Amino acid sequence: MPQLIQRTELKTFYYTPVHCPFCGVRVMGADPVDETRITACPHTLFIAHDTAFEYRSARLDNHLALDGMSEQQVEARWQDDARGIDGFTDTISLPDAIKVAAYAPAPSAYGSYYGFAPIE
Ligand SMILES: [Zn+2]
Repeated sequence: MPQLIQRTELKTFYYTPVHCPFCGVRVMGADPVDETRITACPHTLFIAHDTAFEYRSARLDNHLALDGMSEQQVEARWQDDARGIDGFTDTISLPDAIKVAAYAPAPSAYGSYYGFAPIE
């Protein structure tokens, strides 16, 4: 069985900007004019929150067999997982992949998820 993506959770400092562990690119919030803008580096597999993927790389789509699926079909795939996008992205088994899960405190319980993996 291949190793699953390694998780790091941010619960206290959940608002800390997330940078790629492999090249240092700040993947979200780097643009002061539009903090929701995504800057995916070549290592970024996905950026998501509890209700949607904000970004999916071609490598991720290939790995999870999401190629050619409509957004509705992709949504149906992760909604099949009892833990939603968080659980679905825990099934990634690309070598040395790393996931940062940032959870805002209750009552919001809002999660943001960032996945990275080295490239050859
Ligand atoms: Zn990177």
